[in-house]
Amino acid sequence: MSYKNLYTGRVALRQGKFSLFPVGDSLTFAPMTKKVYLNKKISRRIEGGHPWIFANEVNMVDEDVEAGGIVEVYTHDKKFVGKGYINPQSQILVRLLTRDKSATIDESFFYGRLKEAWEYRQRLGYTENCRLVFGEADFLPALIIDKFNDYFVIQTLSLGIDRWKPAIVKALEQLFQPKGIYERNDVPVRELEGLPQQKGFLTAPFDTRIVIRENGLQLQVDLENGQKTGYFLDQHDNRRAIRHIVKGADVLGAFCYTGSFETHAAYYGAKSVLGLDISENAVLQARHNAALNGLEGICRYEAVNAFDALKQWSREGRQYDVVMLDPPAFTKSRGTIEKALTGYKEINLRGMKLVKKGGFLVTSSCTNLVSPEMFLETIQQAAKDARRQLRQVSFQAQASDHPIIQGWENTNYLKFLIVQVL
Ligand code: SAH
Repeated sequence: MSYKNLYTGRVALRQGKFSLFPVGDSLTFAPMTKKVYLNKKISRRIEGGHPWIFANEVNMVDEDVEAGGIVEVYTHDKKFVGKGYINPQSQILVRLLTRDKSATIDESFFYGRLKEAWEYRQRLGYTENCRLVFGEADFLPALIIDKFNDYFVIQTLSLGIDRWKPAIVKALEQLFQPKGIYERNDVPVRELEGLPQQKGFLTAPFDTRIVIRENGLQLQVDLENGQKTGYFLDQHDNRRAIRHIVKGADVLGAFCYTGSFETHAAYYGAKSVLGLDISENAVLQARHNAALNGLEGICRYEAVNAFDALKQWSREGRQYDVVMLDPPAFTKSRGTIEKALTGYKEINLRGMKLVKKGGFLVTSSCTNLVSPEMFLETIQQAAKDARRQLRQVSFQAQASDHPIIQGWENTNYLKFLIVQVL
């Protein structure tokens, strides 16, 4: 799609302007930062500080903007809004990196942002593993960096941030002297930005199967072939939240991936743990993780479709003390939220039926379009249909290394609920 087509009839293109900059002894032409002007009526989202500017919120763009380049954003009456990067191919035309007019977007800008991100995590008590950069919430839109002790996994999910990958790698090297950095850009969302899906080493190659420590356990993480960045750090605190309810319990964990919740359950004293995942590879790793912690006598895993298993076993009347559900996101588009909610209702209904009276359901949703209120409401509906009464034990979001900024809805995505099922 050409740039002009995107804005048919709406966006006037300005002439590129040049200013004189003294460089050394001579005068050189340096291009001025291109400008973007918003519509007269600004959305509340932008006013509230949200860093995304959609194409239909823009009235005018300088001529010859370079895809992925830095632009300055102004209101229609020329008040400075912020600086960010532009991609005419994306529906999110500009993502703001700063609201500070005096900031220069260069290598040292990214070093500074990463340093701040690390200082923030350190203040919260993180030492080894954490999400070091959580995109928008760290004022680095579309950038994800997970720190697994001395190893780092990065995702640059838009064109404008992808260009700064060398600066980001350099900053990581300066701040941490990492043993290795790996790129997990094998994600479909990059295609919306005209970027290829790819993965690989950003440092000298290293063994991508590493062992991390979490809550006193050892867990193997496969940075190259694991899901997303290899490990779901967002459930870090929530895994600890099951500590008391699993003591002496028979536990069923559906959508177990590499068995992180399940290994925790066994470690916290469960009598037996059965984990289910559709991925053979995940189940193999889950077994390995149980063995790493000497818990292979407690944990068992099956590679099955959990939707089918939950349905069949609830019909058969199987019973557990604790049932844990942590499915993948059910939708990424607004149009299918209803369907996603039906899916949540269905698996939670089955899950509840599998819980002995007085036992516990531990249930998660990482679909960011499903709000915490919608999720709670859906669980309540499931309880009604299952004719069970629920008592809420705890309701949490993701761990604090994934900070939430109110009104920036994609930062508030994880719902984690423990209920007693009566
Ligand atoms: N609880 C895990 C994360 C789970 S991610 C942790 O804390 O690490 C969701 C998992 O659901 C993935 O491992 C995926 O393989 C699995 N999955 C997706 N569809 C499934 C299905 N139909 N049946 C069972 N597992 C499924």
